[in-house]
Amino acid sequence: MTSFTNKVVVITGGNSGIGLATAQAFAKDGAKVVIFGRDRESLRNAAETLGANASAIQGDVTKAADLDALIAHVKKTHGRIDTLFVNAGVAEFRPVDLADEAHFDKLFDINVKGAYYTVQKALPLMGQGSSIVFTTSGAQELGMAGASVYGATKAALRSFARTLSADLKDRGIRVNAVSPGPVQTPIFGRMGLSHEQIEGFSKEIAGQVPMGRVGQASEIAAAVKFLASDGAAYITGASLPVDGGMTTL
Ligand code: NAD
Repeated sequence: MTSFTNKVVVITGGNSGIGLATAQAFAKDGAKVVIFGRDRESLRNAAETLGANASAIQGDVTKAADLDALIAHVKKTHGRIDTLFVNAGVAEFRPVDLADEAHFDKLFDINVKGAYYTVQKALPLMGQGSSIVFTTSGAQELGMAGASVYGATKAALRSFARTLSADLKDRGIRVNAVSPGPVQTPIFGRMGLSHEQIEGFSKEIAGQVPMGRVGQASEIAAAVKFLASDGAAYITGASLPVDGGMTTL
């Protein structure tokens, strides 16, 4: 596997869950990691665990000025981006009758628009041999009740991985997606569910996974590292399911 020593890796949502585990995996391999997220305290704590080569920028992917500040920081500190992990996202589930405009706009603003402009603004720092990985979800493939809006946001990202691959292939930039199944992260606690409901949800969803368990964030991180590595040099426009067989069996 490629050495990531001194590679510059930018991770949105790098202060929690899958993003943080991925930041840790890259930092362990010597990468210079820049994490971006909304919550100041968890960003500070995350940056501390990542060590001297890491830095953290607070911001919101739906705000153009915050993305500009992230890119300006990366340009000034490192001058380039080798891997962009477009991972920030929120999950909320509503049956169609209860999916009001606020729910729809929130999910599309963060998960889709935020992701698209993260890429657009990062591109001037990306060159030959660099790559982009989106975090999508098994919800883009499955007909999960209550996931009409969330699943559509992730299907949009899956589409970006294809279309942006075509846009960027002549610049030597690969674009792929990692598609997690259910993974134990703080995201379950942000859905407005009680502790008991989260336990019940985790158990129920684990029962739907052919491998019989939810995933670990480190297992998604390993797939992201592979997609960013030279070992994946001939892979672009792909979506890699890391879901215990949930969408593949
Ligand atoms: P998490 O809640 O631990 O992390 C989400 C991250 O996104 C946080 O760091 C948060 O700061 C960031 N974020 C959210 N809104 C933001 C905004 N407006 N601006 C900037 N940052 C923002 O959850 P996670 O499970 O690690 O989720 C990471 C990604 O994985 C998400 O895109 C999620 O949809 C996807 N995913 C998660 C699972 C799962 O079961 N955990 C499954 C499939 C896909």
